[in-house]
Amino acid sequence: MVGMPGAGRYAPSPSGDLHYGNLRTALLAWLWARSTGRDFRMRVDDIDTQRSSAISAERQLADLAALGIDWDGDVLFQHDRFDAYANALDHLEQRGLVYECYCSRREIQEASRAPHAVPGSYPGNCRLLDDATRAQRRADLAAVGRVPALRLRADVTQWTVHDFFAGDYTGDVDDMVLRRGGQAPDWAYNLAVVGDDAFQGVDQVVRGRDLLSSAPRQSYLAGLLGIEAPDYVHVPLVLSPTGRRLAKRDGAVTLREMLHDATPGEVVSRLAVSLGFGPVSAAAELLEVFDPAVLSGEDYVWG
Ligand code: GLU
Repeated sequence: MVGMPGAGRYAPSPSGDLHYGNLRTALLAWLWARSTGRDFRMRVDDIDTQRSSAISAERQLADLAALGIDWDGDVLFQHDRFDAYANALDHLEQRGLVYECYCSRREIQEASRAPHAVPGSYPGNCRLLDDATRAQRRADLAAVGRVPALRLRADVTQWTVHDFFAGDYTGDVDDMVLRRGGQAPDWAYNLAVVGDDAFQGVDQVVRGRDLLSSAPRQSYLAGLLGIEAPDYVHVPLVLSPTGRRLAKRDGAVTLREMLHDATPGEVVSRLAVSLGFGPVSAAAELLEVFDPAVLSGEDYVWG
């Protein structure tokens, strides 16, 4: 769209303080957006109300700001978006693309162990049930105070996205959950993220490589909702010395811990060096020299 700058974003889940790996991804997302003339949006992924906390969200936003990562417009909270998720679901439902699923977790696990099942993918047990069976299974769940999950009737099993590091990447698409069932139905992440990114004008998604395998599902779902898929950049992860994804138990890895013996500028500088740029005194200085071509596609080992 001529005249529209487009936007990048960072979307932390507020379930604890940001650590070095999170900060590196956030900084990259900010650099990628700003260096391509885009706006930068912030979203709090608090869709999982059990694990999210408002205090954690506040601390994360303060940490990002302390590093010189700034954003445009208001912070978007997923907990304010439930009506929008319901609208998106309606849109799919009206086109016959949603069905109820009554399976327990165990049933799904057992079915996905069948010889030709794709590991971790929903094998479609409930897709073809007749109305009478549905009514019975719905009633069985209601009797124990539960409602069925809602799933997408996907008409592909794979989808290809383009990623800056991975190139053309093809991944599985299954009949993904759109709204989780149970006692208190919950919106599913894939439905939320697609709508949220479009709502914030995001056309560039920079996030950790651990989410690359979700991109085909999200891109396919975006298409069904009439949303153009964003440019994807799934960045290398920070690993612990033992080769696992960095976690808080790996030492003094949160910004709050690092600030015991470093200034925010020194933390930014350490991040800049880890990305292949020289020492800098601030994020704004790094932005001036940032060039994606310099970046390594290898994961980075903390230590
Ligand atoms: N909230 C997710 C996380 O912290 C990020 C999701 C995304 O970037 O799409 O892992």
